[in-house]
Amino acid sequence: MFFKLNALSTVKMRLPLLPISMLILGNNKTLPLVETSTSPPVSSRHRLLKLIAHLIPRYERCSCSECEVVSGIFGNAFWHENISPTVHQWLNKESSTRLPMAAFPHLRKICNSGFIVDSNGSNSYLIHPQRMALPTLYISGGRPLLVTPQTSFLAHKYMKLHQPGFRHERVVVEGFGHSDLLIGEESCEKVFPHILSHIRSANGDEQQGRNVHINVAEGKKVFSDSEADQYQYEEGFGIITWFSPFVVLLLAFLLVSQLARLFL
Ligand SMILES: [Zn+2]
Repeated sequence: MFFKLNALSTVKMRLPLLPISMLILGNNKTLPLVETSTSPPVSSRHRLLKLIAHLIPRYERCSCSECEVVSGIFGNAFWHENISPTVHQWLNKESSTRLPMAAFPHLRKICNSGFIVDSNGSNSYLIHPQRMALPTLYISGGRPLLVTPQTSFLAHKYMKLHQPGFRHERVVVEGFGHSDLLIGEESCEKVFPHILSHIRSANGDEQQGRNVHINVAEGKKVFSDSEADQYQYEEGFGIITWFSPFVVLLLAFLLVSQLARLFL
């Protein structure tokens, strides 16, 4: 719904990294990640992009080549200490053997807009909040990767404003980043209980006949969200305070220099 990137992701999205990557990819927008003796040969275009991906800054480095390519292009999606070696191995060697990138330009438009837009960059979805008449739960990691907890903070506020008759809850789980919320070794203890609790509560609301029509008509504030509202987003974490335009231009120059060295 909303996409508030952290500082590193913002810089990567503002720079023309993705358009350049799409040019390098050419017609085949699916990047092969796992190379085996039986897999088809990797094209020179794909090999070049994988080489460049290794040079892109990220929060955590990894000894696994496939993981390095994905985190270079997409960014670190999880804190390594939160996932088991078994899941890491399965993720990089069995589950995600290819990286389809055709949708990435659309994703870039969404990230740079700060909220979901269609492929033309138009605000086609958030103008129809009436279509989302349902209870919702938002879970953010308290040790942000890719996006900040403001992402779920805004979505939660949006739904409470437009669909006040349904239960909307939000949790920030300390120590987690992004996808490790769902694939982490301790997710079953620290994350999943929030999901189960929300489902049970939402089912209970439905069985008790608490619905949007009655509650909106009576003008009641149906649910308190004190837990979620306790979170105070630090505005100072934004890109404006972290990177001046000069620094962004300097980074762009360094990137172009690196690419020129690779091509020439
Ligand atoms: Zn890794």
